Amino acid sequence: MDRKKSARLFIQAQELMPGGVNSPVRAFRSVGGSPVFIKKAKGSHIFDVDGNEYIDYVLSWGPMLAGHAHPQVVKALKSAVENGTSYGAPTQLESELALRIMELYPSIKKVRMVSSGTEAAMSAIRVARGFTGRDKIIKFEGCYHGHADGLLVKAGSGGATFGVPDSKGVPESYARNTITVPFNDIDMFRKIVNEEWNSIACVIVEPVAGNIGCVLPAKGFLKTLREETARHGIVLIFDEVMTGFRVSLGGAQAAYGIVPDLTCLGKIIGGGLPVGAYGGRKDIMSVISPEGPVYQAGTLSGNPVAMTAGIETLKILSRKGVYEKLESRMEQLEKGLKDAARKAGVPAKFYRAGTMFCTYFTDSEVTDYETAKQSDTARFGRFFSGMLDRGIYLAPSQFEAGFISIAHSAADINRTIKVAYETMKTL
Ligand SMILES: *Cc1c(COP(=O)(O)O)cnc(C)c1O
Repeated sequence: MDRKKSARLFIQAQELMPGGVNSPVRAFRSVGGSPVFIKKAKGSHIFDVDGNEYIDYVLSWGPMLAGHAHPQVVKALKSAVENGTSYGAPTQLESELALRIMELYPSIKKVRMVSSGTEAAMSAIRVARGFTGRDKIIKFEGCYHGHADGLLVKAGSGGATFGVPDSKGVPESYARNTITVPFNDIDMFRKIVNEEWNSIACVIVEPVAGNIGCVLPAKGFLKTLREETARHGIVLIFDEVMTGFRVSLGGAQAAYGIVPDLTCLGKIIGGGLPVGAYGGRKDIMSVISPEGPVYQAGTLSGNPVAMTAGIETLKILSRKGVYEKLESRMEQLEKGLKDAARKAGVPAKFYRAGTMFCTYFTDSEVTDYETAKQSDTARFGRFFSGMLDRGIYLAPSQFEAGFISIAHSAADINRTIKVAYETMKTL
């Protein structure tokens, strides 16, 4: 497959932007090679500047659950743009999206729109601190909640640690307020909470850890988080920026039957435009300015064009039968990829939650960040390149989830499985 034009554009982009990209993982560093420059996308397919076509399992890193350029979204956006693109004053569209979100996420009694998932998580944590008057937070190793300073923290080797920044430029004094616990480590979590509860404002978690692939919550894990936080007056934040509308229409909280205090949303609620949101209990949300003393604002928050894309996307997803169809496609994909790996003799573990999934090249179960890291990333790199050259666009890292959309057809999935088998045979 010829990608000369992409390669040329990347050389130019590297002169203009750090690493040639505006978000690091796009640079293909962990799989090698040069990124694909996209020209357009439609449904389940994307097209690059060299005229190649791919079945897309990245979907803009999750948002495009309704498929690219869905006619209903495109039509609504065209007429929205005609009315002007931003006012910095309230519109009915904001209430309409808020209502749709609350209908599907009954734990959300009040919501604030922002422009990214990063902003949603960062703001939800500020609110939790303002509400409780406590400073520390607990997060889980490998969970990503955007790039706010105090969240770029991982644990040292083994066990819970007080934060050491994961990125240069984050003051240690700031990161020290972040306690990191291994995902699914119920005992460690209990121990820390029982020792430190009176300084802990919130516990933030991806209920399915999607930023290290797709790591499912162990039995009792989410329930323990709920019980312990409730007992100690700690705010439980579900970061459903990825899992929202993916694990189920009502997110992971509906699928696992847990009611968090605050929820962060993003990605899908913008239907491909920049939107995030956080919301939850009324008493907690009323500390936000102008109702309360916690400041948070945004020039483009609740932007009418972005709200329109979100509203239309949620309308499409709320139709009868949508999730049944998605489920049957995912079953097909799961079975096909597992069979392909087995027939090709490649050790692999496949996990999924709703329409997010990951194939790890390892023969042991993946339950947290440490076990995810046991995967053969060099083999993943070869798999990725082989798939790309055969017209399947996967996320360029072993530690990213894959996604499907309602536009992925049974034929798309069949082709993907066939190509996966061909590729795995060469690994
Ligand atoms: C993508 C993501 C974010 C960050 O969202 P951005 O819109 O990229 O800022 C936060 N939390 C989770 C769980 C995510 O997957």
